[in-house]
Amino acid sequence: MSDSPTRVAVVTGAARGIGAAVAQRLAADGMAVAVLDLDEAACKPVVDAITDAGGRAVAVGADVSDSAQVEAAVARVAAELGPPTVLVNNAGVLRDNLLFKMSESDWDTVMDVHLRGAFLMSKAVQAHMTAQRFGRIVNLSSTSALGNRGQANYSAAKAGLQGFTKTLAIELGPFGVTVNAIGPGFIVTEMTKTTAERVGVDFEQAKAQIAAEIPVRRPGMPEDIAHTVSFLASEGAGYVSGQVIYVAGGPKA
Ligand code: NAP
Repeated sequence: MSDSPTRVAVVTGAARGIGAAVAQRLAADGMAVAVLDLDEAACKPVVDAITDAGGRAVAVGADVSDSAQVEAAVARVAAELGPPTVLVNNAGVLRDNLLFKMSESDWDTVMDVHLRGAFLMSKAVQAHMTAQRFGRIVNLSSTSALGNRGQANYSAAKAGLQGFTKTLAIELGPFGVTVNAIGPGFIVTEMTKTTAERVGVDFEQAKAQIAAEIPVRRPGMPEDIAHTVSFLASEGAGYVSGQVIYVAGGPKA
């Protein structure tokens, strides 16, 4: 039985991967969910899966790094589903390269989607949260925040999100809003599949090799992250704020 039957959640980057699993999980928890991604049409299968299961969802097309699109998207969600009080900043991109080969555009794109995107979305949604005196923001960081070769941009953005999380927790706590971050380890999605392909490694082989080094001996699945988001977004998690929870099958990356 859900403990949050009337909440409205916005999940960014929800057309696939971790975001899609999070959207479906929050809908199963009883929330109405805005499935937000760059391409609205790409969100439809996730919306259909939610509605087929008896839930409520809308597809919203928006680029999280564009303030006008973010404002319009959040206004649309509020009009169609009600005031959003749960936000999962999940949209992400990779532009991996060693520092000496990393272009300014590789740097800026990653900062724009992860950091600027989380900033703009949180700023737009917090107005509804503070008005409702309730809110849950969950930011997708990464074990890469601890350092990862070829990911100076991504690592900096994911570490930046941790500072962003802790500061918002301090600022928004008095309004009943908690803010936390999840740091996934290796999760099986298009993002990790594309990375394996880019470096010329068979994905199945990569998964087996990585699993052998993970204490629980398996790669992570999007549902592992969705389960943790579900906890952090729940009514009962109101005393957990400003935390980074690594979900990586073990204590370190
Ligand atoms: P994914 O499969 O690549 O999905 C990311 C989604 O975000 C895509 O649908 C993508 O749309 C969307 N997106 C990209 N830029 C956007 C923008 N500007 N506005 C709105 N949506 C945008 O990635 P994932 O593996 O599920 O990862 C989800 C999050 O978890 C990311 O923040 C990632 O950094 C983080 N994470 C993942 C892993 C992992 O192992 N998979 C580990 C640690 C952290 P397009 O397809 O149109 O680009």
